[in-house]
Amino acid sequence: APVPVDRIVAEVIDRTRTPASAKGIEVNFSGTRGLTVYGSESQLMTAVANLAENAVVYSPDGVGGEPPLQVMITAGVNGEFVEIAVTDQGIGIEPKDLDRIFERFYRADKARSRATGGTGLGLAIVKHIATNHGGQVDVVSTVGEGSTFILRLPARPPDAALPLPPSVVIAAGYSAAELQ
Ligand code: ATP
Ligand code: MG
Repeated sequence: APVPVDRIVAEVIDRTRTPASAKGIEVNFSGTRGLTVYGSESQLMTAVANLAENAVVYSPDGVGGEPPLQVMITAGVNGEFVEIAVTDQGIGIEPKDLDRIFERFYRADKARSRATGGTGLGLAIVKHIATNHGGQVDVVSTVGEGSTFILRLPARPPDAALPLPPSVVIAAGYSAAELQ
């Protein structure tokens, strides 16, 4: 089903604001409004929410900092894809960990040594949801500066939602019987 990106972003910001402000972090949106993606609204929301949650968890405590630390959510179109990105000013990810963080239960050393640990499932779920929706998730990160996770989702509905009229299929060489 068509899902408005604005609604995903609004819900994620709503959910993330409280834990973020407890750490002195602002969550904002910047980018194109009115975009649409296709699939399960709750799954796509979970994917972006997992990225936003990580952005807050893996940022330092910024209470009282000036200017305040930011988590920025952006949306835009890039070719065939709608890109929803979550950028933080957090601890960053070492190059050796970048390929592995999407594996189930994998946590980078810095995260593993944290007092309150997660399970290492959040990004595996994001990747699973992205793949199931015909998209992908990528990351760009610099240790000590921060990370950007980019969720890429098809800008058009899946083919099944746009069946070709039978006349076109027959013209392409299929017999009517094969179409039953
Ligand atoms: P949970 O299952 O609660 O989400 P988790 O956050 O450890 O646990 P993932 O969300 O899958 O698991 O993330 C995997 C690892 O990737 C984290 O443990 C952390 O090392 C690293 N990571 C994820 N997001 C970020 C980020 N924004 N900044 C720095 N490191 C990150
Ligand atoms: Mg997580």
